[in-house]
Amino acid sequence: MSVFEAVISDSFSPHSNTCSHSVSLHGICTACNSIVDDDDQRHRRPFDYLSPGLQLTHHAVTLTKRLETLSSCFHHKKLHLVLDLDHTLLHATEVSSLTEAEKYLLEEETCRDDLWKLKPDRYLVKLRPFLKDFLREADKMFTMSVYTMGTRSYAEAILQLIDPDRTYFGNRVITRDESPRTKTLDFVLADERGVVIVDDTLNVWPDHKNNLILISRYNYFRKKESQRSKPYSEEKTDESECNSGLVAVFRVLKEVHCGFFRVREELESKDVRLLLQEVFSLV
Ligand SMILES: [Mg+2]
Ligand SMILES: [Zn+2]
Repeated sequence: MSVFEAVISDSFSPHSNTCSHSVSLHGICTACNSIVDDDDQRHRRPFDYLSPGLQLTHHAVTLTKRLETLSSCFHHKKLHLVLDLDHTLLHATEVSSLTEAEKYLLEEETCRDDLWKLKPDRYLVKLRPFLKDFLREADKMFTMSVYTMGTRSYAEAILQLIDPDRTYFGNRVITRDESPRTKTLDFVLADERGVVIVDDTLNVWPDHKNNLILISRYNYFRKKESQRSKPYSEEKTDESECNSGLVAVFRVLKEVHCGFFRVREELESKDVRLLLQEVFSLV
């Protein structure tokens, strides 16, 4: 039984009015079938991305976060990693906005594995260099989630390119459907002491800046006509190993992971937020 199932089957909420259980599906308590009223609804958070209609009380979220981290920490030596999509792992542009100097990409797209058209051919997606290696190696140290301000269907289409079998992300894909305005770790079922975020945008994370590694913004295509320097697309070049955003971030992730698990006896008091501070103060 996973930790998550354990919480579902055997937990309670002190806030609940209708019943004492903490998990509901489509407004019905999963334990006693009673209807969750509007007042009780306010004490719950939607987790549709895990299962349609799923809601958990704040109490259950807190408990699950704590248990989930402890189990993955102790048993698998894994922390949690939350990854943004746009400008972090890839750059997407509308096909109609490609410049003359970029149009050769449409022909190359069919034979390159870092360049994809999203159906129905409206967008061209360029994956960031070293993405495959990054995901493969990060997966050894982290349980990974995607967190994007894009729509669910956009996220699903990108996942089809970068993780078609869902080996890395499973169903841990959070989109603007759940989280329309800002991003928050409240939707991530892992203890915040063990969660690292990688995003190119600082301001979307008002409450969790200390968990964040700000990655250099990946721009491959031309943004606007007036852009002075030629973009990678027109130069026919790309990030290399020495200026790669993903390679740089991976080094930090490795340090944080090492620091966290260095002394087993101190695991309880470890916090990635403090470790990140240490790493950045040395830079
Ligand atoms: Mg972004
Ligand atoms: Zn109930």
